[in-house]
Amino acid sequence: MTAPPGDQRAAELASSLAAVRARIHAATQQAQRPAGAVSLVVVTKFFPASDVRLLAGLGVADVGENRHQEAQGKAHECADLRGGLRWHFIGGLQSNKAAAVAAYADVVESLDRPKLVAPLDRGAAERGVVLPVLVQVSLDPSGATRRAGAEPTDVLGLAERVEQAEHLELAGLMAVAPLGEEPVAAFARLAEVQRALLAEHPAASVLSAGMSADLEAAIGAGATHVRVGSAVLGSRPAVQ
Ligand SMILES: *Cc1c(COP(=O)(O)O)cnc(C)c1O
Repeated sequence: MTAPPGDQRAAELASSLAAVRARIHAATQQAQRPAGAVSLVVVTKFFPASDVRLLAGLGVADVGENRHQEAQGKAHECADLRGGLRWHFIGGLQSNKAAAVAAYADVVESLDRPKLVAPLDRGAAERGVVLPVLVQVSLDPSGATRRAGAEPTDVLGLAERVEQAEHLELAGLMAVAPLGEEPVAAFARLAEVQRALLAEHPAASVLSAGMSADLEAAIGAGATHVRVGSAVLGSRPAVQ
């Protein structure tokens, strides 16, 4: 008898999840950091709410999404799991959508410019929560075409604004390693930015860095959260 498709997907996810957890464990040991120092955020973008449910059943507590509409829909579909599941918003934010993101996200990892502070603060106030926020840092060489993320030199100013917002909590930093550079070198720059942040904001200790391809390098540089998609869920459609 063949297993029903749901069971088969559950088995697939259980096995890839175990492999990723083993990688995290090994890298944590290798970096001589305490067991449990690194949390896994499973990035479920492009995958259905049914996968989120299966992951929750496998003990996943944190999921990441990068597009507002998709994230909002899935958070709604999984509303009964709320309490057991934290939604991390990790994608580009538009200022006119930021308040709406604050209505369901439990952590916003991608704050990268001052204009986002007020709408996020307002959304969190309307929901009646204090929303943890990470400042996203760009690790691209300076002068390169600007992608997501604040320039390292702008991080402290931005952090100050978050700290001053009544309904936002400055939790730390997030970054993506740039293409075409050794992740170890990029994450070493990130660790420097983190040292400067911690000197002024010692409680902002979250460092969200590392994805399927480079989580070991990120853990070596002090990541407290890795955001892993394809290594758990399989490859996404090429167009993103
Ligand atoms: C998609 C995405 C990830 C996960 O990437 P994988 O390579 O699939 O692990 C992590 N962080 C961000 C910001 C993403 O957009």
